Amino acid sequence: MIRFEHIGKSYAGVAVVDDLNLHIARGELLVLIGASGSGKSTILKMINRLEPHDVGRILFDGQEIYAFKPRDLRLRMGYAIQSVGLFPHWTVARNIASVPQLLGWPAAKITARVDELLTLLDLPPEQYRQRFPHELSGGQQQRVGVARALAADPDVLLMDEPFGALDPVTRAALQQELKRIHQLSGKTIVLVTHDIDEALLLATRVVLIDQGKVVQVATPLALLTQPANAFVADFVGRSDLGLKWLSLRSAVELARAQPAVPGITLPAQASLREAVSAMALHRVASVNVVDAAGLHAGVLYAADVFAPPGGCA
Ligand code: ADP
Ligand code: MG
Repeated sequence: MIRFEHIGKSYAGVAVVDDLNLHIARGELLVLIGASGSGKSTILKMINRLEPHDVGRILFDGQEIYAFKPRDLRLRMGYAIQSVGLFPHWTVARNIASVPQLLGWPAAKITARVDELLTLLDLPPEQYRQRFPHELSGGQQQRVGVARALAADPDVLLMDEPFGALDPVTRAALQQELKRIHQLSGKTIVLVTHDIDEALLLATRVVLIDQGKVVQVATPLALLTQPANAFVADFVGRSDLGLKWLSLRSAVELARAQPAVPGITLPAQASLREAVSAMALHRVASVNVVDAAGLHAGVLYAADVFAPPGGCA
């Protein structure tokens, strides 16, 4: 879907991206991660030509991006950024509708799409449609930013720390929402973050960038279990590696198929990390797990979490 070939970019003679080679497949949720200043935003902006590259080629759908008009490219790629960038004097509805309007969609189709997205992002349309950005919380503004990026159903979604400024609860909710949208739509998403937990949670593959160079490209599990070097191991956090690993696995996977036990019940999307946390908090050694439909799916035992792989507690 998007291919970087030997991409280089300098600002005032200083290289910020150096010989970048990367293929982003259709339907991936690729996360670019690295320290501040490592070149992540620059890489993202080169995809939709907000920043030109100096050397190499970037292909979109098999064609060099310089073959597209910047405007056409941007209409096919949603772009959501941390600072949101909503137009302050436009209503929520008009902000979300900006790209469909540019594309000349009929009014009725635009209205329906705006309401659909507001509902998807948990902002009841009749309550939020006519509000202005300053009448929303930061988290709600970021939701509108994401809705706007999704509005014209673009092939690609580029997201630069879209949940950066949020409180942890709102961030977790939006992360789950993005995951769901990705699974439902199969869109190609490129997301920039400096938060390793966010990367591990969301990514189909993680690209770790350091000083404009790719250090490792790997699935979240491979990044944790097979770090390419000491830099990667440090970046993913040696001390709570086990907890991060638990956060990649779902509780329902390890649950035993048996009737519910008295005590607490975990939601379907709970990770083993959340399960272990809940068991520690409530001083219990087992929890019930429900499936996606909310029905009892089984019982997870602490002993099974800590049992050797393949072993039976
Ligand atoms: P990240 O998103 O990983 O924090 P950036 O891609 O924003 O990193 O920046 C990479 C490097 O390029 C940084 O050293 C930054 O200061 C520099 N840089 C970014 N944009 C510009 C610009 N417009 N002019 C000059 N230097 C820039
Ligand atoms: Mg950045």
